[in-house]
Amino acid sequence: MWKRISVCAALFGLAGCAAQPGVAQTPSRQQFSVVHSQEEWRKQLTPEQFQVLRQKGTERAFSGKYFDSHDVGQYFCAGCGQLLFSSKDKFDSGTGWPSFVRPAQEKSVLEVTDTSYGMERVEVECSSCGGHLGHVFQDGPKPTGLRYCINSASLDFKKQ
Ligand code: FE
Repeated sequence: MWKRISVCAALFGLAGCAAQPGVAQTPSRQQFSVVHSQEEWRKQLTPEQFQVLRQKGTERAFSGKYFDSHDVGQYFCAGCGQLLFSSKDKFDSGTGWPSFVRPAQEKSVLEVTDTSYGMERVEVECSSCGGHLGHVFQDGPKPTGLRYCINSASLDFKKQ
């Protein structure tokens, strides 16, 4: 959070942290409905889940359990259980990460400007617990043209 604030402050000045049009800013920690300390998260999650969800890590391409899954069902947040994505919106992107054209519900995710690693990307977070899910890119297929590139480790699939 502090890193994000300081990056915004450096880029835009403290008076106005300008958001990209259509890109929601992460609410403050107090606004998430599911809040745990890092220690609590570490106990609750597997090491892979913790690294992705709470430390904004990225799993290796083609290493996760869902990138090649074609099962019908829904994907929930591995941190808090919120519904995030549906198999009907999943497509084979060839990237090695599960890819979706949209979230299951617009309110499920937050999209936040991410300027880490010298790139400008849009990070996708769970709107309930703030867990890092992945990024969204504008090179997806129709009908949305969006590619939600999501780490398997942040997801928990339930077959229909
Ligand atoms: Fe969550």
